[in-house]
Amino acid sequence: MFPSFSLRYAHLPARMSAECAPTPVTKPQLVAFNHALAEELGFDAAAFDAGQAADALSGNAPPEGSAPLAMAYAGHQFGNFVPKLGDGRALLLGEVVDREGQLRELQLKGAGRTPFSRGGDGRAPLGPVLREYLVSEAMHALGIPTTRALAAVTTGERIVRSLAEPGAVLTRVASSHLRVGTFQYFAVRRDVEAVQILADMAIERHYPHLESLSGSERYLSLLEAVIARQAELVARWMGVGFIHGVMNTDNTTISGETLDYGPCAFMDTFDSDTVFSSIDQRGRYAFSNQPHSAQWNLARFAETLLSLLDEDRERAIKMATDAIETFPEHFEASFGAVKRAKLGLLGVEADDELLAQQLLDAMQAGHADYTLTFRRLADVLESEEGESRLIELFDTPDAIASWLVQWRERVAREDVDTATIVARLRATNPAVIPRNHQVAHALKAADDQNDYALFESLLAAVTRPFEDPDGEVDYRQPPQSNEQVLRTFCGT
Ligand code: AMP
Ligand code: MG
Repeated sequence: MFPSFSLRYAHLPARMSAECAPTPVTKPQLVAFNHALAEELGFDAAAFDAGQAADALSGNAPPEGSAPLAMAYAGHQFGNFVPKLGDGRALLLGEVVDREGQLRELQLKGAGRTPFSRGGDGRAPLGPVLREYLVSEAMHALGIPTTRALAAVTTGERIVRSLAEPGAVLTRVASSHLRVGTFQYFAVRRDVEAVQILADMAIERHYPHLESLSGSERYLSLLEAVIARQAELVARWMGVGFIHGVMNTDNTTISGETLDYGPCAFMDTFDSDTVFSSIDQRGRYAFSNQPHSAQWNLARFAETLLSLLDEDRERAIKMATDAIETFPEHFEASFGAVKRAKLGLLGVEADDELLAQQLLDAMQAGHADYTLTFRRLADVLESEEGESRLIELFDTPDAIASWLVQWRERVAREDVDTATIVARLRATNPAVIPRNHQVAHALKAADDQNDYALFESLLAAVTRPFEDPDGEVDYRQPPQSNEQVLRTFCGT
């Protein structure tokens, strides 16, 4: 049933990881399996067996050819450097070559203690496992680079957090789990050889167009490429109202994929200062602070590469600083493109940025829902009734009505007919995002009643985000005031 594993990471120098067998669980049960992703990864669909999948993906019987290991990494957590974090509850099984020839890593998250566990139990609660499953698959469907969810298996054991909760294991798939923190772990130990091995692996896996470069140019180009990809990623997050919540350097990938769905959430009502995470007390990772946080993380990445940039420390620092200072331009270019697309614009005019900003200002002042506002722009072009549906989202109808006059004028200058713009808007602005209150309902039913019906219907809706759903629950709707979920937790 499983494709064959290559053991690239396992074959790196021993100091980069720790071999570690998963800790068996009492009664593994497969509660979610992503058949489409399995197909992409080269699983044999005809040989699929839920019992065998549960045994393998709980860690009770690791798939043949895999060699479970915990990766070493460090990280800045909320600005404080921790020189040794590492996979304390995740085990890399190995890599598989997917149907497009790309290497993909399979990791079991929640598979038991590892040499990096410190005081932790190595386990994951069911709620956060299902949350990561839902949100990462929604992100993928929204077209945003992300780790994926292949499976969720309950363990039959309860684990103690604030209360006793069911335990589970998530199978996470990533193009790699290389993080800024992986580089930091070796840089802080002055292990330049290891940093170079990681950098070369990152180029081979994620930036193959840099393979022909050598020396300083090679690693400076890697830094610049990661900067560009992270800038683009954060711009894409912000285009859908996503707040990562824990943008520590150990959660910042080199591939530019979204990693770690602990306290993340999508905002409903637009407010650029929104924070959900209960541990982010100072708003370090607030919605509009995300570009700044990403740039800070990338500066930490740049520091790890200094010895590869130039023998002369001063010159290396200058090169790294110049690269890091380009982040705002990359971000503004990416976010500008995201916002123009959300307004249905392909052409570029000088005032587009201002037009977008005025809409955000109107949303903020009028307490409008971010996702629905953009989604209903298409309706505005179709009918007067559509226009009313948009305006009713705002507490301040005059401000949005006058903005719409300007927007219509701008749209009229695009070189295509209205139907094309309407189609463009509906393909860009999702109808459905995994709203926090719906995620909470789905998790609660699974946690408390072992009932996965809501999880499944929500998953079906969020993985077709550009379709208007017609199921029993209207997943487009923002929460009523008594349904709002304003706090999220790390899920460790
Ligand atoms: P995270 O919040 O998942 O990014 O994890 C941060 C660090 O804490 C990583 O080194 C994790 O491996 C570790 N960690 C999180 N939860 C646990 C747990 N239940 N047991 C052991 N280590 C954990
Ligand atoms: Mg993490």
